[in-house]
Amino acid sequence: MFELWSQAHLIWRTLEIKNLVDILIVALVIYELLRLVRGTRAVQMAVGLGLVAALYQLSTWFGLTTVQWVLRNAVVYLGFAVIVLFQHEIRTALTHLGNNIRIPFTNKKRQANPFGQEWYDEVVLAATTLSSEKTGALMVFERDVGLKQYIESGIRLDAKVNYDLLVTIFNTHTPLHDGAVIISDNRVAAACCFLPLTQNPLISRELGTRHRSAIGITEDSDAFAIIVSEETGVISFAIQGRLKRNQDGPGLRRLIQKAMEPWQSEAESAEMEEEERERERDIDEIVTLGRDLSRSSRTEKIREGTSA
Ligand code: ATP
Ligand code: MG
Repeated sequence: MFELWSQAHLIWRTLEIKNLVDILIVALVIYELLRLVRGTRAVQMAVGLGLVAALYQLSTWFGLTTVQWVLRNAVVYLGFAVIVLFQHEIRTALTHLGNNIRIPFTNKKRQANPFGQEWYDEVVLAATTLSSEKTGALMVFERDVGLKQYIESGIRLDAKVNYDLLVTIFNTHTPLHDGAVIISDNRVAAACCFLPLTQNPLISRELGTRHRSAIGITEDSDAFAIIVSEETGVISFAIQGRLKRNQDGPGLRRLIQKAMEPWQSEAESAEMEEEERERERDIDEIVTLGRDLSRSSRTEKIREGTSA
């Protein structure tokens, strides 16, 4: 016991600030890695790798030379195996790292020109209309991480975001309705885009590929997505690999605004909250009463509410 204490004391005395920083960084990296892989299939793969390491240790203890030889030779390829097996996690970790480090001026475009309120209302109205008709839809909104590779997988449109366009795209009788619409820089960049499916084993089996691909794109990038279920008409909002289900028009609008303008200060948010509550009432009225009105008079009302 005394020996242990004196050893600890010795380590403490020889410890430099540099070593402490070193340990802290390693602890932080391990913590972030564990947080990232928690609840994913990477955990099972890490357990598998751990078992291989344990087997190697056992073979050393018991002198199992053949097992030792095989495992020692396999270690050369283990580095490649780790990269291939964990490519998704590595990509997500690097994207997260990039998102959390704000390089000055890189997101100036979005800050200097927050996409207008009108744009949010068009999307919300399209989502609620599609939901009431039980028409399936999937819309992805690019933020700081580019979605070029996914945009290229679809059909390029480059059109202004508006209610008519979104509702028409998801109409099941059009060739464009399958897949996702990607909105980038205030424009509908493409339709029919193919997104990566999430591999998260904890996702409910009730959720099919539309919801899984929406979650998948929010794991791969900082984008957010709006999903309208064809089966239930339920509107969901996906962000950072999570799904917020059962959204109504006002709730959805609030989530879009929060995702698009996270830099809004607390004071500004409180002020906007009041304005928004008023607008929510307008949208609520429009959505419930508006079913009987023609589509054009509905958009007119929303625009009036926004400019008021
Ligand atoms: P819903 O509640 O609307 O039924 P769901 O989550 O149960 O949705 P599916 O029923 O499997 O999902 O929906 C299939 C539709 O989802 C496809 O027709 C296609 O439009 C879209 N979809 C499926 N996979 C992808 C993908 N990888 N990328 C983009 N869109 C996809
Ligand atoms: Mg389904």
